[in-house]
Amino acid sequence: MANTTIKLNDGLLRRSRSVELSSSRAQLWPLLSATDSLNREWGLPAVDYSTTPSAHGGADVHAKAKMLGMNMKWEEHPYEWIEPTLWRVERIFTSGPLKRGIFELQLDEIISGTKATFACEYMPPSIAVHVLLKFVIDRWLDAAVASARAADEYLHKRTPSPYIRRYKKAEIDRQALDSICSRMRDWGVERELLDRISEDIQNLPDEDLVRIRPFEAADRWKAGRLDVLVFFMRGVRAGLLDLHWQVICPHCRGSKASMSSLQELRKTAHCEFCNITFETEFDRSVEARFTVNASIRRTEDRIYCVGDPSRTPHIRAQVRIKPNKPRRFGLELQPGLYRLRATQFKPILALNCSADGTLAPQRATGQKEIPILRVALNDTGFESDELKADAGRCEFEIHSSATGSVDVKVEDASWIDNAATGVLVTSLPEFHDLAAKDTLVPEEELAVRSLTLLFSDLRGSTALYRQIGDAAAYALVREHFKVMQNVIRTNRGGIVKTIGDAVMAVFFSAPEALECCFEIQKAFVNLWHHRPQMATMVVKLGFHRGPCIAVNFNNRIDYFGTTVNIAARIQNESRGGDIVFFEELSGDPAIQRVLAKYTFQTESVTATLKGIAGETHLLRIIPEWEGMTLPQGTLMMAKPHIK
Ligand SMILES: [Zn+2]
Repeated sequence: MANTTIKLNDGLLRRSRSVELSSSRAQLWPLLSATDSLNREWGLPAVDYSTTPSAHGGADVHAKAKMLGMNMKWEEHPYEWIEPTLWRVERIFTSGPLKRGIFELQLDEIISGTKATFACEYMPPSIAVHVLLKFVIDRWLDAAVASARAADEYLHKRTPSPYIRRYKKAEIDRQALDSICSRMRDWGVERELLDRISEDIQNLPDEDLVRIRPFEAADRWKAGRLDVLVFFMRGVRAGLLDLHWQVICPHCRGSKASMSSLQELRKTAHCEFCNITFETEFDRSVEARFTVNASIRRTEDRIYCVGDPSRTPHIRAQVRIKPNKPRRFGLELQPGLYRLRATQFKPILALNCSADGTLAPQRATGQKEIPILRVALNDTGFESDELKADAGRCEFEIHSSATGSVDVKVEDASWIDNAATGVLVTSLPEFHDLAAKDTLVPEEELAVRSLTLLFSDLRGSTALYRQIGDAAAYALVREHFKVMQNVIRTNRGGIVKTIGDAVMAVFFSAPEALECCFEIQKAFVNLWHHRPQMATMVVKLGFHRGPCIAVNFNNRIDYFGTTVNIAARIQNESRGGDIVFFEELSGDPAIQRVLAKYTFQTESVTATLKGIAGETHLLRIIPEWEGMTLPQGTLMMAKPHIK
């Protein structure tokens, strides 16, 4: 389709071009909203950003770049977007030929797929400059349409990359790369992973190699996430990669500071783009990223677009609401919790989306009307603090009587970033091999919002030492640790420490911990079959989830707090061969999905746990292993628990 120009109000001109694509809007959105990569793809220059705190809250963003041989300066308004329909950004130029420019992508559903329309709205300067400007805008529209077609081709698996731009071949020290790879092969590192990282180091542009996220690389390579993370850690050891820590802002997911050591982490951090100070959460905001080592390839960190909507996929919409100009937009919402947040205010508005479909008004025909969620704002924030809606298509109508413009975001509260967080990375044995002494500074304990702690202990080891002697018994205890390590590792847990015969491990979620507990008990039942002498050892297991703090203890990361104490005390209630946890957890649908995979008996346990007032209701799970009969000698120990 040809480029068209129309006249708008306020003397603005709008020049646009559309292209029809066969992928759906939902498929195209992640690629066509990645404006940082797209700006680079379109040949736009890297941008130098700075901020100043804004009088109405948030920050004003100033940008500087060299374009067409000119130094361009502009004020960048926050990106606006409504997923998967629209993104739009307005720039007020303070130097150069353009005074005001609005850049936009609109995705419309059509029968054959999606119509993508790129547009630039601008204030025409003098006629002479206008000719040049039109040429520049047309060049951008050509590039934008070409990249939309490339994204469509990529989504149909006809091309290996959504980008078409060729980058200048980077200078690489081939010899250094080959020698490191061959050393890592000698360590037993998988050849496939080495081939993939070598390809990336040779082919990817700088920006994709300065902040590599291991889980994103794993997804791209179709490899296991934890395998890739471990491979990266070994890569650091071999001198292939560098590890650095970033503190990610919970609002914009941006990070400016990059730290080479955990010692640089502090309890709070500041985001200058959002103009907020936030608590550094070790399980959420601290993330490990990797860079190719400079001895192999020199890389430069450049930013092309700071407002990139694809970087914050949990923000489903971000819109600017002007005083007394209500704005309406629609979103497709899944059941779950959402929140509305405004950059200018602290309080949030919770939105609970239910799956049962009882809230929307029914028409006489029985057909449902699309509900309209009305939201009002004034100078102090949202006028209500809770909204309810049915999942599905929701229309928002936001009205503001505040003095200045308000930037409102609709966020998915249950979204979890695919970050290799501080908790996870520091719990890997590879981290200790790599940076044994790198830990938090003693006075900077970091918050952990929600962690699941698993405690285990061995029952029967005292008797074993007596029966078979210290050396033989110790060998068996060591073997038990090996089993624990393997099973915890394959179930995505991290061992914090061992205390005597006990293990303390961390998990991201209680369902993962529960599944790991079942697998631990299964592993020991299997072991008894092959090594009857192990049968005198039975493992006690208990777990609990909640907030805690990460601290430096004996130069290692350790976790403290009530949740940790409770988890240890719950483990005390285990008799061995079983799994104990808070009864109320069993109502969690994700816990129920794990339970559905196994056969077991349950027992309710009422206990008085030190540190908790009153009685605590626990659940004891006694797994049954089908087709497994326990070897002789274990029956006495195991009989009470295996019915
Ligand atoms: Zn931020």
